[in-house]
Amino acid sequence: MKLGYYSYTTHLDHDVEDMHPEHPMRIIAINHALEQSGLMSDMLLGGCAYVAQKDLLRAHKEGYIKQLIAMSPANGMILADPDTHMMVGTLDAAYQAAGCVINGLDDIMSGKINRAFCAVRPPGHHAQKSKAMGFCFLNNVAIAAKKAQLEYGLERIAIIDFDVHQGNGTIDILADDPNFLICSSFQHPSFPFSHWQNIHSNIINTPLGVGTSGIDMRRAVEKQWLEQLQKFKPQLTIVSAGFDAHKDDPMAELNWQAADYAWLGAFLSDINKENSDNKILAVLEGGYNLEALAASTHQFIDSFR
Ligand SMILES: [Zn+2]
Repeated sequence: MKLGYYSYTTHLDHDVEDMHPEHPMRIIAINHALEQSGLMSDMLLGGCAYVAQKDLLRAHKEGYIKQLIAMSPANGMILADPDTHMMVGTLDAAYQAAGCVINGLDDIMSGKINRAFCAVRPPGHHAQKSKAMGFCFLNNVAIAAKKAQLEYGLERIAIIDFDVHQGNGTIDILADDPNFLICSSFQHPSFPFSHWQNIHSNIINTPLGVGTSGIDMRRAVEKQWLEQLQKFKPQLTIVSAGFDAHKDDPMAELNWQAADYAWLGAFLSDINKENSDNKILAVLEGGYNLEALAASTHQFIDSFR
């Protein structure tokens, strides 16, 4: 199994003051854990680039991208929405985050690697076609999914989102397109409080009540996702890998542990196990307790080997 790891340092310039929870230490903590365990040296370290405009415009409206460029501050900070702060370096960081994910996709599709983890920020799964929200500007997962569909011609792309918050932006971009099967677990009720019940043909929503344990999550995932994913036979699985359902995370109230992310990684690996080329592109979303984030991400990536 060839595993790629994609990250970059430009995100350091997207650093909101006053201890905003989505801060640069998140990726630094993940890198540290991977280096300490030796796992980093087992991975092929991928390069990063700015996302191409044509890739962006498959997922986002051109007017929205122009608006982001126009509102990007020359100094100081502005609010793109009440909790989505934009600083001088934010747009560069967002463009490179999406570019990292596209590089991971391209390397998977060229056969250079089978699986990739992209440790990027700002996160993406709340970013809609024309709206920044929930710390997100560009929807990294949806941008890669649309390129996989339209440039690589894939017809069955699974999107797995186990962040504790529903990926409403990804749903806004990919809903009702039969080339995508979206499986999404999330705390309910919780941010983004979207109207999600049975309104889209290609989405399996798995709402989880406050306090849901990792064991109960595993049961729900096996019951609600497994058969559908086996039938769908994804040619590629793209993961919105958020780690904020961990019991120590300050942003939600679920009770998962780091080992539950190893279970999720193994679950995704097994779905297509008859396909030795089982392609998985995983992208960091949330996770705000540094220790829990680093341990959970490590266990998730390690389960891919
Ligand atoms: Zn989240």
